[in-house]
Amino acid sequence: MSETPTTILTGEPEADAARERMRLSFDLDVDICVVGAGLAGLTAALECARLGASVAVLEGRHIGWNASGHQLGTVTPGFGLPLDKLIDRVGFESSRELWALSKEGAECVRANAREDVIPGIGLTEGTLEVSNVDVGDQLIGRLQMLNEDFETEVEGWQVERVRDQLKTDRYFHGVYYPKAFQIDGRKYLFGLAALARRAGVRIFEDTPVVSIDPSGIRKRIVTPSARLRANHIVLAGNVHLGAPMRRLSETLLPVWRYAGLSVPLGARLDDVITFKGSVTDTDGVDHFRVVDGSRLMWASPETTWAGRPQRFASAIQRRIRTVFPKLGTVEIAEVWGGAVGQTVHGMPQIGQLRRGLWVASGFGRQGLNVSAMAGQLIARGILWGDERWRAFSPFELVWAGGPTGRAAGYVAGLWGRGSSGVAGAFARHRERARARERIREARLAEANRQAGTRPRRPPPDRSGPARPPLPEIQRSGGEGG
Ligand SMILES: Cc1cc2nc3c(=O)[nH]c(=O)nc-3n(C[C@H](O)[C@H](O)[C@H](O)COP(=O)(O)OP(=O)(O)OC[C@H]3O[C@@H](n4cnc5c(N)ncnc54)[C@H](O)[C@@H]3O)c2cc1C
Repeated sequence: MSETPTTILTGEPEADAARERMRLSFDLDVDICVVGAGLAGLTAALECARLGASVAVLEGRHIGWNASGHQLGTVTPGFGLPLDKLIDRVGFESSRELWALSKEGAECVRANAREDVIPGIGLTEGTLEVSNVDVGDQLIGRLQMLNEDFETEVEGWQVERVRDQLKTDRYFHGVYYPKAFQIDGRKYLFGLAALARRAGVRIFEDTPVVSIDPSGIRKRIVTPSARLRANHIVLAGNVHLGAPMRRLSETLLPVWRYAGLSVPLGARLDDVITFKGSVTDTDGVDHFRVVDGSRLMWASPETTWAGRPQRFASAIQRRIRTVFPKLGTVEIAEVWGGAVGQTVHGMPQIGQLRRGLWVASGFGRQGLNVSAMAGQLIARGILWGDERWRAFSPFELVWAGGPTGRAAGYVAGLWGRGSSGVAGAFARHRERARARERIREARLAEANRQAGTRPRRPPPDRSGPARPPLPEIQRSGGEGG
């Protein structure tokens, strides 16, 4: 009977120093067994242990093997599903409740991501969401709703302010979240594992769960070399859960997302990007930020099959050149990727499937705050009988369509990206047309002035209704996120 150390190292100094890697090779009895050592599993385990439970985490590969070890560390409130769609789906009051939970998730990450707890975590404040189309008038309503109804501090940025900080004509207005933040994503994950261990969690790697029997009070979990018994099982295996509950895996559409890190770009980067936080666009295509002073970290390409990340270096290069032509061709030093689990309804899967069998998955691209929230809700559900996880009951498990669904999802994704690209091109075309019109009017006025004639009425603007300027709103509303 032993905990068998394995010798594989990740090459990540902070990761290797922080842990001994153990495979489970003996039978074990615990209060709670968590399947999967990603962000969701580790947070659930940590929160359960903090509340006094004995917890084992079983990880089929190694900590952070998939998306959790390859994310960009941006922590914003909310979910993958846009707020207006959330309101359509569950109504205003339920959306407010869900949104407040998502902010608690962000605050949970913030509480763990302290420099004295996880050295080098590098938390910095403020993220920016930029619009690819010129819809400033619609933004005003959104800003008011976020500030007043959803108690989230936001600022509306005029086009000029956005373009002052991001030198590109592809972005129009922006929504700045001063209380959203970014951290070193990998350090956070391994810091979370270290915190969990310190709280008494036993983490076993290279220990895939091959089957579970969730009937009865003491549930049984089978791995290739050991059996566990636990009162509660938390399934946090994301898209790779597989055999233990294949039907659950099939409710997720796996989407591989790839990111790259440029070589140091020196002053040419300062000339083009002065915003220091994370930037995401409203179409969900690009997500980037400056790291280490002068390197660009950029996530963009997606597939519904697992590809070799290196293959996507040139696609990332092309995206950077498209958005910031002044940067030219940027050399990419490193590329990585991971599979996120996308649900059909766009909201995460959080809750109790049957007595003692819990699920925490389907976080899509917004895994940091939402998985933290899920971990807290599940731990409190198990140990305190807190039923707030029921706020997610409207979002049932819906079959994602198997391989056909993947293909359809890919085509729909391409179409969505294509159509948002077209909308962006139209917006830029309208903007150029308006600029040409303004120059023409100025020339006409000047010619009239020199000729001493009264200026003619300017022709009607056919480029769309006149829009009021976007006010700079900055209203504090609660703790923010
Ligand atoms: C490039 C990229 C950038 C991203 N950037 C951000 C960002 O900036 N901010 C943000 O909030 N989110 C971001 N995300 C999304 C985020 O990474 C995910 O939503 C999150 O990591 C999902 O965590 P998870 O624990 O559910 O899943 P995973 O990370 O997939 O972890 C699940 C674990 O379970 C294990 N497992 C599965 N089945 C079994 C089994 N049967 N037995 C044992 N173990 C099993 C797997 O090996 C895996 O390690 C990004 C994702 C990518 C790919």
